[in-house]
Amino acid sequence: MFIPQHVIRQKRNGAILSVDEIGGFVRGIVDNTVSEGQIAALAMAVYFQGMNRDEAVALTLAMRDSGKVLDWRGFSGNGPIIDKHSTGGVGDLVSLVLGPMVAACGGWVPMISGRGLGHTGGTLDKLDAIPGYQSTPSIERFRETVKNVGVAIIGQTDDLAPADRRFYATRDVTATVESIPLITASILSKKLAAGLSGLVMDVKVGSGAFMPTRAKSRELAQSIVAVGNGAGLKTSAILTDMNEPLAPCAGNAIEIRAAIDYLTGAARPARLHEVTLALAAELLVIGGLAKDAHAARIALQKSLDDGHALERFEKMVAALGGPSNIASKSAQVLGFAPIVVDVKANRGGTISAIDTYQLGMAVVALGGGRLRPQDKIDYAVGLDQCASIGTHVSIGEVIARVHARDTDAAAGAAAQLLRAYHMGEAVALAPPVIETIHA
Ligand code: URA
Repeated sequence: MFIPQHVIRQKRNGAILSVDEIGGFVRGIVDNTVSEGQIAALAMAVYFQGMNRDEAVALTLAMRDSGKVLDWRGFSGNGPIIDKHSTGGVGDLVSLVLGPMVAACGGWVPMISGRGLGHTGGTLDKLDAIPGYQSTPSIERFRETVKNVGVAIIGQTDDLAPADRRFYATRDVTATVESIPLITASILSKKLAAGLSGLVMDVKVGSGAFMPTRAKSRELAQSIVAVGNGAGLKTSAILTDMNEPLAPCAGNAIEIRAAIDYLTGAARPARLHEVTLALAAELLVIGGLAKDAHAARIALQKSLDDGHALERFEKMVAALGGPSNIASKSAQVLGFAPIVVDVKANRGGTISAIDTYQLGMAVVALGGGRLRPQDKIDYAVGLDQCASIGTHVSIGEVIARVHARDTDAAAGAAAQLLRAYHMGEAVALAPPVIETIHA
């Protein structure tokens, strides 16, 4: 007989849980025979005692199998099923451009993305800024879109890894999110349920990252690579810098416009481009679509230069209910905030650091993110023209623009930005791509 408190006691005392014990607990999460208190107790026990690789693999697989697992065998004969996932950041619009680029290079990308979490923006919220875009379509429409376009970016459905939804909700309110084996199993169970054969994980490092230190980010990346491969998914991770917004903007409609500008070539910010190419190249290599990173980068650059990546993006938007040819119509279809104000430096110097968490929270305060899960988002608000670290500015020079619904909100965000930007002496610039971790 399965007794949840026995499993909790074992873990509390530092024992290694068996596959059956972990499987039994996960089944109990889904069929409600395990209580909220028991989930919280196990999460806290894991938080303090940890899990070894085999336990984390067992938890990942049990959570994957708690719901539907997509099977792409029907049409994957001519290409790998691959995806990228990020721990989340500010101005991180990589998914919006990487998915179409990888599809243009022969990959199938069924990307299941999340809503904004805390100070970080969510790909799903950004796509919801496009009128008509169905970010939670039926599984059939999702499959059709991947099949016809090569890429579909949608939100988490109720059928995939339902154990994670209940487990995560409890962790969220019991201070147990920050456990490396639990984060690993949470992310990978959803990716495995999407039926992937290859995954590249973007683990952010810095003031806007989810993990508090570089060492912790590295530990998470190593855990995801070990457990992903242990669960049969070819997985690599890249540590990337999040000490400043990745693109010089943040906000939902604003980032869709930036993604279109990236794909058309109207504006391709260097840090965003470097991180996108590094992640996408790793994915093409994992998926067997390129012999090495150099060949992959050439193919990816070509997908931008010949317009095929843009074409995939436009087709995906149209296939999921948004306007056709969105690139030529973005000014009409995407919302603009009524108030746009310049944020001017209140002292001169070189921008030496940016509190990227505060920048993200400024977007949330403008209405571009949520304080409570039920909050509605204002898609038009946010920031753009954010100056980057190393830029020399004189007093009164513009360091960013705020897009707001009203003047009070704009003034609040401008003040928050001035607190987030630190001036100092000249600084050594951090490379956007820090380290790649292979199996
Ligand atoms: N994102 C997830 O999907 N799960 C976690 O546990 C943390 C971040």
